[in-house]
Amino acid sequence: MRAQMGAAPITTTKLGDRLLMLSGPGGNVVALYGPDGKLVVDSFVQPAWPKLKSTLDGLDGGAIKTLVDTHWHFDHTDNNAHFREAGAGILAHVNTKTRLTQPHDLLGMHFEPSPPGSLPTETFTDKRSLNMNGELVTLVHVPPAHTDTDTFIHYTKANVLHMGDVFFNGTYPFIDVSTGGNINGMIAGADRALAMTNARTKIVPGHGPLSDHAGLLTYRRVIATIRDRVQTLKRSKKTLAQVQAVKPSAQFDATWGKGMMKPDDFIALVYNTL
Ligand SMILES: [Zn+2]
Repeated sequence: MRAQMGAAPITTTKLGDRLLMLSGPGGNVVALYGPDGKLVVDSFVQPAWPKLKSTLDGLDGGAIKTLVDTHWHFDHTDNNAHFREAGAGILAHVNTKTRLTQPHDLLGMHFEPSPPGSLPTETFTDKRSLNMNGELVTLVHVPPAHTDTDTFIHYTKANVLHMGDVFFNGTYPFIDVSTGGNINGMIAGADRALAMTNARTKIVPGHGPLSDHAGLLTYRRVIATIRDRVQTLKRSKKTLAQVQAVKPSAQFDATWGKGMMKPDDFIALVYNTL
């Protein structure tokens, strides 16, 4: 899976004067660059490191100063050690550090605890703000949604919000039940992001193309509609298999069901976390 993801080319999208979105080999990365050094959010998978490093080195300004992990999953944190070797510190929610020190089994993959050199060097609990390159960057912890480690990164002046995997743009989202994820948290997370943004905000999802307020609202409506239907069926004592047979997501499946989570997979995540 690493090799397959890592082979994807990096594509870049300008988000602001000193702000760039990088996509391809893993979750979406955002780089803020300038004289104060580089602040990078998420890190792709390990095989992508040489091309990520050369893309970052090609941007103006100082060295890579800080990496932020949006949450603990490997397709976002896999290059933590490479960033530390390159001289950067790693800033993350305290739960991200905790989860990275534990073994996990997820989607058929086994993860050993991360070695000390891959762990965040600085953690926060609720909120953290920093000024860099003329930008005010605020990290906000989101109550359990995709995991219990989720962080939004808000670039206040550029009017950009990185939501990590609380937002999958255009596909049903994966929810990591094993580390606290749940459907109501995903919807609450989307609501929180909607309240933090406006019609002009550029919204970066964990996976999928760059979006905006309208795109996030559509995603919110899709997952909340499915949640409501599954909840009604579950309350009427239907089993998971019976709920899947009813196809409560049918109207959305042609577009939203083509990602990593097939309709029945997503229905199971919703059902099991209600
Ligand atoms: Zn994730």
